[in-house]
Amino acid sequence: MSYCVNCGVELEASLRECPLCHTPVMNPRDLGRELPPSPYPTDKGQVEVVKRKDLGILVTVVLTATAVTCLLLNLLVFHRALWSLAVIGCCLCLFVFAFPAIFYSKMPVWLTLLADGASVAVCLFLLTFVTASDAWLLQLGLPIVAFLTVCAEVFPLLSKFFPLTMLSCALCVFIEIPAFCVALELRIRQFTQQPARIVWSAVVLTVCVIIDIALITILAKKRLRNEVRRRLHF
Ligand SMILES: [Zn+2]
Repeated sequence: MSYCVNCGVELEASLRECPLCHTPVMNPRDLGRELPPSPYPTDKGQVEVVKRKDLGILVTVVLTATAVTCLLLNLLVFHRALWSLAVIGCCLCLFVFAFPAIFYSKMPVWLTLLADGASVAVCLFLLTFVTASDAWLLQLGLPIVAFLTVCAEVFPLLSKFFPLTMLSCALCVFIEIPAFCVALELRIRQFTQQPARIVWSAVVLTVCVIIDIALITILAKKRLRNEVRRRLHF
């Protein structure tokens, strides 16, 4: 058993230097004797890092394979309804959603969000081939997708004029949530031919107004703002 003369760590008999402090190991008894083979591998084993391109290929292949196999299954086996269009639409959405993260990260945020909204709209359109009528798409589906896309586009637009912090983003979200809920309830009521009034969205609106008032107060008072940032670590 040998120990490093410098740091005292226990040494393997085959070592020529201390693995910790790199002090050369010299055992007078071993002079002239051949050292046993090192227990450690000589090659530095390193797994090659997966590149974004490889991930892109995998995502494209999996999504295309899913869409094509489902289409074939639909056409050749279960051909009562064109259900595979729903799968193809979902694959398309996933591809568009993953596109900026995997293929082109320099894509502007507003364009990414617009493409996401458009892909969801196309997916809903494909669903109309399965449903009896497309009235739901025109009166509910597309307006909701358009409203959500506009809500999302507000963030990149605002960030051009103001530095967006967590607190101001939260304020923006709690303004958009009730606006969306009210618009959604009114749209559903119009679609189902009920009188225009708000019920459940009024509850959401009330809660969000209270949160908004609290957030505006925090944003207006510097000491409160700093305290919240310190406590929440942002
Ligand atoms: Zn040492």
